[in-house]
Amino acid sequence: MNEKKLQRRILKITILTAAVSSLLVFCSCVLIYYMTTAERTSYQAQMQAFINEYKINIERQFDSDIGALETLAGFISDSRILSLDNLDEGIRANSGQDMFYRLGYCEKDSDELKISLSKNMGEDERLSQQNIQVQNVVREAWEGKASTSFKFMDETLGENVIAYGVPVYNNGQVEGSLLGIKSLDTFEEILNRTTLSQISIDVDWVNQSGEYITWSSGSFIKESMGNIFNTRIFSQEEKDVIREKMASGEAYTTEFEREGKTYPLYFEPLDRNGWYLVCTDKTSEIRSPVYFRFVIVIITFLVIITLSIFSILYGGRFLRKNNRQLIGLAYYDPLTGSFNLHRFRQEVRELLSMDSGYSIAILNIRHFRYMNEIFGKDQADGILCSIAHILKNTVHENERYCRYMADEFYVFLNTDDPQQARIRVMSIMEAVGRLSENMNRTYPIVLYSGIAVNPDPLPKNADESLVEKTSDTLIHRAEFALKHAHAGQENTVVFYDESIYQAENLQNQIESTMKSALDQGEFKLYLQPKKDLRNGKIHSGEALVRWIREDGTMIYPDQFIPIFEKNGFCAELDLYMVEQVCRQLRRWMDEGYEPITISVNQSKLLFYRSDYVQKLCQITDKYHIPRQYIVLEILEGLAAESIEELNKNISVLHEKGFKISLDDFGSGYSSLNLLARLDIDEVKLDRGFLAGDQYMKNDKLKVLMKNIIRLAEELHIDTVVEGVESRDNEEFISCIGTVWGQGYYYSRPISAGEFQKEYLEKGGCVSG
Ligand code: C2E
Ligand code: MG
Ligand code: MG
Repeated sequence: MNEKKLQRRILKITILTAAVSSLLVFCSCVLIYYMTTAERTSYQAQMQAFINEYKINIERQFDSDIGALETLAGFISDSRILSLDNLDEGIRANSGQDMFYRLGYCEKDSDELKISLSKNMGEDERLSQQNIQVQNVVREAWEGKASTSFKFMDETLGENVIAYGVPVYNNGQVEGSLLGIKSLDTFEEILNRTTLSQISIDVDWVNQSGEYITWSSGSFIKESMGNIFNTRIFSQEEKDVIREKMASGEAYTTEFEREGKTYPLYFEPLDRNGWYLVCTDKTSEIRSPVYFRFVIVIITFLVIITLSIFSILYGGRFLRKNNRQLIGLAYYDPLTGSFNLHRFRQEVRELLSMDSGYSIAILNIRHFRYMNEIFGKDQADGILCSIAHILKNTVHENERYCRYMADEFYVFLNTDDPQQARIRVMSIMEAVGRLSENMNRTYPIVLYSGIAVNPDPLPKNADESLVEKTSDTLIHRAEFALKHAHAGQENTVVFYDESIYQAENLQNQIESTMKSALDQGEFKLYLQPKKDLRNGKIHSGEALVRWIREDGTMIYPDQFIPIFEKNGFCAELDLYMVEQVCRQLRRWMDEGYEPITISVNQSKLLFYRSDYVQKLCQITDKYHIPRQYIVLEILEGLAAESIEELNKNISVLHEKGFKISLDDFGSGYSSLNLLARLDIDEVKLDRGFLAGDQYMKNDKLKVLMKNIIRLAEELHIDTVVEGVESRDNEEFISCIGTVWGQGYYYSRPISAGEFQKEYLEKGGCVSG
């Protein structure tokens, strides 16, 4: 995967992860919001219920106090008893509790206040000398209203109290005011009472200015200052809002922070004097456990998301780095930093589509292996790097180079002119040659190079496969040319040669398919007649192999016999041909034809094989062929090593009944001596003697042929002249005493079937 693709993929994954994570976080937030809202709503409702409980209790207390006073007032009205002490005692006896600290009666518009003293007091006092709160409730009652005073300090009692005033009627007219002064203990007790749900709420009672009237013990919000607005738990803005709310008598809910925790705070108005209950649940923070659990989940989420994104990014970086390393390994040569062959091929494919001529040169260093030993590995590596550097400076914009294997450099050049290509490659070679001078080394750095010039320019918009094929062909041809640029002492440049390539290609094909071809019977027996010049009849035939491939194409022996001789397959083929000949003879004999002698070409490899004679005998025996019908054609080259050895083999073959013919006599450096010394039955004068009718112009040649034939005759060796192509040829060879002739004049080599029809079935006359 290339880097851009990888980056894009990582980016996609990151964005996707971030998006999914954000969605999850968003959903969680919404969920948290709804859950906490619901929880808070339910909590608030619960709190409100508790607060109402306190509120009702306090208001009930007010009502009960006022109610008690009004009962007394009624009692006064009815009985006209003004003994307040008795009243007080009476109340206490009825209610069983200490309802009022003091009771007082003040006649309307009078300044004389009769006070009942429950605790050691009991003198008439002046109303005008009483606390203003007392005076107010008394006066309100004169007006016919029952009222409750604000808190005030009762000097006698030495504690804060409130006073109630109710009118006392006589005949429907307000006659006076009944006053009740009450300690705040009862209220404090109410505030300290736990709710029905056994939940303790911190409840403070304040007036509209924020002053504390009373509070539950251990009040959570009350600080040393006597006013709620003097605490530091509210900001100025918050205080303003609270004041405003209190002024309008609204209930109000807020929150405050203490020691890092947030608590709810409720302002609940009492229906009296603008008083408020200020409540908080000090046991419960405003943020519930659910909230905290969710916060923890969110934080965990965020941490996971952050870690995931970090991992993706880090993993991506790691992948990119790895990818870069892989790309480096996949595309670059680690030593020189140049492209490797794989990348070079890709680049060439891209450049081939450009509209210009091109060629590829491959440069190889002569004896680089030894240079490693001579210069040492490091310096040899240095030379390779320097060559890469030279190439880097040599190639033009749309040219490329690469290093392949140890010491091969491929260069793609923008020229299809062989001359230009040669000049450029030579200049590279010279620059490389100067490297050893720079290194003060006497060992020359010599290069050899194979160059292939673009064969056929690519058509415009050529498809990918054609571009790939052309590029591969070009590289392949340059490699082929390099193989033929044998490392010499000097820089060498060799261009790709199609004919050499085809020959090698055929050779490769031949070698790779020869075995299967033999198994599948692609090697066919062809026969060429030898004419007896004395009677014009067929004397014998020569077996000549033809390779007819599956597709019907025919390959001639000249193309594959030399290859088989080199690779050793010829021996196998020769025996195969002997067998084909024997099989054919057998068939003819079985069909009633007079058998005819057939000569078979034998290669040197086979001739000297230890099991050669045995094999031949096995074949002839297998088909029951009398061995005198088989002539073995050997080449004079067989005698090169040892004539004695050859004669030994020949005599063994003679013993077995085979005849021996010396083929192509006179084609090489033949000597007449050979004729005398070799124990052969037949000699075949090479077709070169007749080629181009040279004998006609060259009398010496005539004399030579005449004497060879005469000598052979004297040595009791039959003679065949090959290459008879015309009537003149025939006349000439019969004139010099040849017995048998062979050549196209009579027949080309033909298949065994045709041979049968032509000669065996027609009585053996050889036309020509
Ligand atoms: P060769 O044994 O000298 O065979 C004669 C060659 O001369 C044959 O070529 C034949 O076609 C050719 N020839 C015959 N008459 C004329 C003529 O008038 N003019 C010309 N120009 N050529 C003529 P072919 O069949 O191509 O065989 C070439 C050589 O291949 C043979 O030369 C022989 O050395 C070798 N060869 C052929 N078959 C076999 C085989 O089965 N085993 C071995 N070891 N070699 C074989
Ligand atoms: Mg021959
Ligand atoms: Mg021959």
